[in-house]
Amino acid sequence: MERIPASDAVFNQTPPLADYNLFTTDPALKEAVQREGAESAAPELTLAGAALGTAVNFEHARLANRNPPILHAFNVQGERIDSLEFHPSWHVLMQGIAARGYHTSPWARVDGRAATGAHAARAAGYLMQAQVECGTLCPTTMTYGAIAAMRRDPWLQRDWMPHLLTREYDARDIPIGHKRGGLIGMGMTEKQGGSDVRANTSRALRCADGSYRITGHKWFFSAPQCDAHLVLARTDRGLSCFFLPRRLPDGRRNGIYVQRLKDKLGNRSNASSEVEFVDAWAHLLGAEGRGIPTILEMGTYTRLDCVTGTAGMMRQAVVQAVHHARHRQAFGRLLIDQPLMQSVLADLAIESEAATALAMRLARAFDSDTDEEIALRRALTSAAKFWVCKRGCELAAEAMEVLGGNGYTEEMPLARMAREMPVNSIWEGSGNIMCLDVLRAFGKSAATRGAVLHALTPALGRHRNFDAAFERFAASVGAGTLNEAHARRFTQLFVTLMQGSLLLNAAASVGARAAAEGFCATRLDFEAGWGAVFGTGGAALDVNAIMDRAWIEN
Ligand SMILES: Cc1cc2nc3c(=O)[nH]c(=O)nc-3n(C[C@H](O)[C@H](O)[C@H](O)COP(=O)(O)OP(=O)(O)OC[C@H]3O[C@@H](n4cnc5c(N)ncnc54)[C@H](O)[C@@H]3O)c2cc1C
Repeated sequence: MERIPASDAVFNQTPPLADYNLFTTDPALKEAVQREGAESAAPELTLAGAALGTAVNFEHARLANRNPPILHAFNVQGERIDSLEFHPSWHVLMQGIAARGYHTSPWARVDGRAATGAHAARAAGYLMQAQVECGTLCPTTMTYGAIAAMRRDPWLQRDWMPHLLTREYDARDIPIGHKRGGLIGMGMTEKQGGSDVRANTSRALRCADGSYRITGHKWFFSAPQCDAHLVLARTDRGLSCFFLPRRLPDGRRNGIYVQRLKDKLGNRSNASSEVEFVDAWAHLLGAEGRGIPTILEMGTYTRLDCVTGTAGMMRQAVVQAVHHARHRQAFGRLLIDQPLMQSVLADLAIESEAATALAMRLARAFDSDTDEEIALRRALTSAAKFWVCKRGCELAAEAMEVLGGNGYTEEMPLARMAREMPVNSIWEGSGNIMCLDVLRAFGKSAATRGAVLHALTPALGRHRNFDAAFERFAASVGAGTLNEAHARRFTQLFVTLMQGSLLLNAAASVGARAAAEGFCATRLDFEAGWGAVFGTGGAALDVNAIMDRAWIEN
């Protein structure tokens, strides 16, 4: 029989990357876990890293995204059911998330307070989970954030929490009282305004029994399969936050109608819907008219997760790029040995390490209730979300290019990540909104200004560029000249200083020192100017030391 020549002699193609431990191969993450108070979780994270990095798991991620959810608005008899059908791989991924507790673990103590280091430990796990698949992180983070806002409500504490604070995934559309696990979503955005939620028109009417009925809509309502959503609606006292269950307390369907699912650039495994509320039963959460602060309590946690999830995707993109460069030859040499590629890879590795360090530091601020940490996270959460999510988009595109044409195909995870990255920048408050929030935090609160400067000072004297940038920053904070048009520039300076300080303070090994110095030599260079693309650091980077640390293969 005649042979097909092209498939016979394939060479110089990179072997698949899978079956490696996402935790033990990541020095930056392991060290951050130690630094940020989550060291007792290291054994659990080591197990999670092994479980997450399997070929089987990466294949579930691919399948869940290649087979997006389907909405069944009606059943065969024509009855309204608003049911979502997911690929089996989605459910496998969700089971893993629930088993590892990434949806609720920090809240699972009886007294409702997080255990020491619980948010940082969860963040490290979440960061690894994001390396595999991100659509499933949407209901995961919304549940994590919602509980922060729900836990002080006696009814929810009694009837809902025992069913949410479990490590089980239960996808059945039945009343929560019969479920082994549950998920919570969030609905703020309406057609006429998302960032400006004051434009919301959905109305809530109070009934004699103290419950409310909501009529209106939400233009984005992700994970409509969740057991309940926190939503904003207007009462006579203004915007208020409501708990809107999918099923009524007596088990009947609530008046929530899924109009259609969004056809999205990425985040394809996750269902994002448009919904109408018709006399939907709701329970008031927090005080009437105080809906924005109540729901923002949830939003602060989901913003933290935007940072952590993006840092996770950045890490996976770097690992994919380094793995490829270690196996692929061009012009007679491995890519990893070519100076210009080394510059690119080292620069990507630095960015990823800085994102990991920042995400973990921010998570630690959520573990503490000292005034100083609360003041720090007030400004740092929005700032980090802005900057890390922006950098993630650029990093994913550059890492994809390292893989050449293969990177652009759906067989590799990088194409999916490049599509996924921008959504973290858009939802939960898009870039400009985050920067305006940073200005508000600095402008309004002396405690925040003090906490930020205090957090940065230990790194002074360790790098010339850091010291000069700090001076600039302190001057603009002190002068009170912050204005909206400069909000992005100010936020960038704040975040890169924060990242620089974290890397400098943690520079205990040769590799970590190289990453810290490389970061400050490029990102904080205001004299020569930092190049606009990755790979322009050139001689400022100790590429060998950085690459030795970037990814320790199993
Ligand atoms: C996949 C996906 C899922 C989503 N899921 C949910 C969900 O489950 N629940 C939910 O409530 N929402 C959800 N959203 C909506 C998301 O949170 C909003 O799209 C986002 O907050 C922006 O709101 P908008 O679309 O109305 O844009 P706009 O508010 O119109 O903003 C448009 C642009 O203008 C900028 N802008 C706004 N105001 C200013 C200003 N004062 N100065 C400078 N620039 C400004 C914004 O930064 C943005 O870049 C989802 C979005 C996506 C893409």
